[in-house]
Amino acid sequence: MQTKDFIELEEKYGAHNYNPLDVVIEKGKGVWLYDVEGNKYLDCLAAYSAVNQGHCHPRIINALKTQAERVTLTSRAFRNDQLPFLYKELYELTGYDMILPMNSGAEAVETALKAARKWGHKIKGIKADSGDIIACRNNFAGRTITTISFSTEEQYKDGFGPFTKGFKVIPFGDTEALEKVINKDTIAFLVEPIQGEGGVIIPPEGYLKKCFDICKRNKVLFITDEIQTGLGRTGKLFAHQYDNIKPDMVIIGKALSGGCYPVSAVLSSKEILGVFNPGDHGSTFGGNPLGAAVARESLRVLIEENLIENSRISGEYFLNKLKEIKSRHIKEVRGRGLFIGIELFPEAGGARRFCKSLMQNRILCKETHDNVIRIAPPLVITKAEIDEAFPKIKEVLLMD
Ligand SMILES: *Cc1c(COP(=O)(O)O)cnc(C)c1O
Repeated sequence: MQTKDFIELEEKYGAHNYNPLDVVIEKGKGVWLYDVEGNKYLDCLAAYSAVNQGHCHPRIINALKTQAERVTLTSRAFRNDQLPFLYKELYELTGYDMILPMNSGAEAVETALKAARKWGHKIKGIKADSGDIIACRNNFAGRTITTISFSTEEQYKDGFGPFTKGFKVIPFGDTEALEKVINKDTIAFLVEPIQGEGGVIIPPEGYLKKCFDICKRNKVLFITDEIQTGLGRTGKLFAHQYDNIKPDMVIIGKALSGGCYPVSAVLSSKEILGVFNPGDHGSTFGGNPLGAAVARESLRVLIEENLIENSRISGEYFLNKLKEIKSRHIKEVRGRGLFIGIELFPEAGGARRFCKSLMQNRILCKETHDNVIRIAPPLVITKAEIDEAFPKIKEVLLMD
């Protein structure tokens, strides 16, 4: 079978809820992906930052295999011997002393929202079935009905109503809007430190710290969605650390398993996650021993291979090179660590055609929000690999 045959089969039987580039991947190693014809590509998406540790990292694959041969799933009806260590190691890494494991990112966001609401009702004293959670315009929190309920993306919502109530949406980067919208019934403020799906949007300097202070003054929970920005992507363990704050809740996913298995988690305190009692919330696969073993090794790889530091240093190097490209299509190049967005002018004809040309040049990128090319390779990328990729990217950005 060749590329076109795989595509034909997929289009015939699969739901058409994605529009992938026409490349069929067969294997991956580190920053490299190989298609069914044996062509080699540099991965500059890293599965939306889930593969920060690089494709098929030998240590993570080994942890997966070893645990798969022991026990994979117990459900939380019984305990397993991996989850307690994941809790302890996450606590030691992050300082959060209560943790709730889930699978996908959207489920972890839902979990954080449920915890926040219950905290609002049981501890803050907001009347049952009322109270608001504040989110930002242009956010991304997943694709469940609740997480799209506060989306401002027309297509994400079209046809899927009615939606979950209890959300208010304010502009991203605007602290005055937050101050204004808060009242005695405000439960929480949910924010991405850098909006990823929104187009790698970096808020003004000090934004998170100001929002954090406003929330503290008003007894409003401050929650960061670090599913994409966390675990080294921006050059720190968490992107909110650039503002020297400790959010009440942090949501992680994606790279928590190095892309080997769906594992997500809510990190918080006993005061907040302590609102859950047995039977209040759960998931059959959440906290399973296979996922826990994979997550433990993924975190160790992140730390022991200095991937956070490499993200900061290589990210700055890559960003500075990209900024030097003089193309009439480029409106702005911005980024933090290896989380980089190249925003094109609307007249450039959309980022998609550039991503197609990059694919011809053996670089895999995905457009986000019509006009932004996101550059977010696995954090194991070397300076030499950046130097090899750079002329190919430059060539595409200089095309007509
Ligand atoms: C990817 C993402 C999610 C959703 O994660 P899934 O695993 O796709 O459900 C939520 N929030 C942010 C910021 C994300 O980037």
